Amino acid sequence: MKEISIQSVVHVYSGIGELPEADQELINAAIGARLHAYAPYSHFFVGAAVLLDDGTIVLGNNQENVAYPSGLCAERTALFAAGANFPGKAVLKIAIAASSNDFEVNNPVYPCGACRQVMSEYEQLSKRPMEILMYGASGEVHVVNGLINILPVAFNADNLKRR
Ligand SMILES: [Zn+2]
Repeated sequence: MKEISIQSVVHVYSGIGELPEADQELINAAIGARLHAYAPYSHFFVGAAVLLDDGTIVLGNNQENVAYPSGLCAERTALFAAGANFPGKAVLKIAIAASSNDFEVNNPVYPCGACRQVMSEYEQLSKRPMEILMYGASGEVHVVNGLINILPVAFNADNLKRR
C-alpha cells in the first residue's frame, strides 16, 4: 500500500481591490449578473462571469424552479451559455459572486460539486487551467488556478477513451 497526497493552492485576496484590474472587472461582472438571479426560494443570489479567450464575457446566474432540481446554478448557466453561443472558444476564467436576502455572505462561495464537474469538462476542452475567482458579497476573494485545486482526481473524458 502506498499513499497519494493531494495539495490544493488557494490564493487569498483581502478584497476585490487587491486583485489585478482585469480580475476586478470580471468579479464586478459577476456581481452585476447576480442582480438578475431568479432565486425566489433560496433567496441566495449567485452571479457568474465567464471570460473567453477572445475577451468575451458571458454572464449567468442561478435560475430556480418550483420543482427544485429543475433549477440551475449560476456557474453552469454561464458555462452552458458560453458553450452554446461561442462554441470552440476557450474558457480562461470564471468569477462567482453571491449574496443573500437573509444573511451576510462574508466568505467566498465555492461552486457545488455538479458545477465543478462541468467546469472540469470545459477546462479539458480549453486545454489550459481555468482560473476560478470566488467571492461572496464582501470580504476575501479566493482564486485557484485550475480545477485540480477544487476537484482533484476528477472523472474526465480520459476515463471513457476507447482502446
Ligand atoms: Zn452549482
